[in-house]
Amino acid sequence: MNVAESTYRPICTLLEGARLYRELQMRVRAARLFERSYTFYALHALCVFAAMAIIGYFLLVTKTTILFSVFAMALALCLSQLGGYMHDAAHMMVLKTKVMNDVVGMTCASLAFMNYNAWKIKHSAHHAHPNQEGEDPDIEIPLFSFTRTRYLSKIGLARLLRRYQAYIYFPLTFLLAYSFQFKNNIEYFVRQLRRGLCPSISGEMLLYGGGFFLWYVLPFLVFDLSKALLFITIVPMTLGLYIASVFAPNHKGMPVLDRNTRLSFLEHQIITSRNIAHNWSSVFGNPSA
Ligand SMILES: [Zn+2]
Repeated sequence: MNVAESTYRPICTLLEGARLYRELQMRVRAARLFERSYTFYALHALCVFAAMAIIGYFLLVTKTTILFSVFAMALALCLSQLGGYMHDAAHMMVLKTKVMNDVVGMTCASLAFMNYNAWKIKHSAHHAHPNQEGEDPDIEIPLFSFTRTRYLSKIGLARLLRRYQAYIYFPLTFLLAYSFQFKNNIEYFVRQLRRGLCPSISGEMLLYGGGFFLWYVLPFLVFDLSKALLFITIVPMTLGLYIASVFAPNHKGMPVLDRNTRLSFLEHQIITSRNIAHNWSSVFGNPSA
C-alpha cells in the first residue's frame, strides 16, 4: 500500500517548478528527444498487422484447443500494441499534426474496441494529476485501496477483500480489459447522450459498435461455440494482464497525494512516477504511460 501523502512537503514553489520545467523542456528539445521516429512506427505497425493476419489464419485452421488458446494469447499481445499506438497518438508522438494523430488514435481505438475520446479524457486526467486522490481516475479502482483512508472507507465486498488485495491483484487484472472496453466507454456515451445525440457521437458509437462486432460477435460466426467462448475469454484476460503489467509499475508503490495537495507540474510528475529501465521487456511497453 502507498502512504497517504498529506504529509508531503513540496520541494519547490509553483513558480520555481514552472521555471525548472521550462528549462528541462528546452534541454530535452535541444537533445532532440521529442523527435518522432516515423520509421519505428511504420516497421512496428507492419510487424504487428502482419502478425495479426498470420495468427488469425492459424486460429481458423488449428484443431487443438491448447494451440488455439496460445494463438488467442498472441493475438491479444498484438492487440495491445494498437492500444500503444492510440496512446502515443494522443500524445502527438506518431504523426505531425493533431488531426493526423487523432485519425491514427481513433482507428486503433476502434480496432481494439475502445473509444478514443473516452480514453483520452481519462488519460489526460491521469497525466494532469498522477496518483492524486479524487483527480487521477487510474487509481479509482473499486476493489483496491492505495491509501489508508481509502482502505478504511471500503464497504461491502471491497471491505471483505481489502486485506487480500495483494493476492487478488493479478487475478483481477484479467478483468481490466473488460473495464477498458465496456465500462469507460459506456459511461462516456451515457454522459454524451444526456446532452443530446449529435452526428459526431453517432459516428463514435458506430465505430465502437464495429469494434464490438470484431471482437465479440465475429468469433461466434467463424469459430464453433466452445472456441468462440474461449476466444472472448482468453483475449481480454491476456490483454488485461499485459496492460496492467505495462502501466502499474510506473506508479505502483509511489506516493499518493491527497486531493488538496498543490505541487508544480514537474514535481508532481517526478515524485509520483518511477524510472523504468529500458530492457527487452519494455520494448513492447510504453515508458511514458
Ligand atoms: Zn500517457
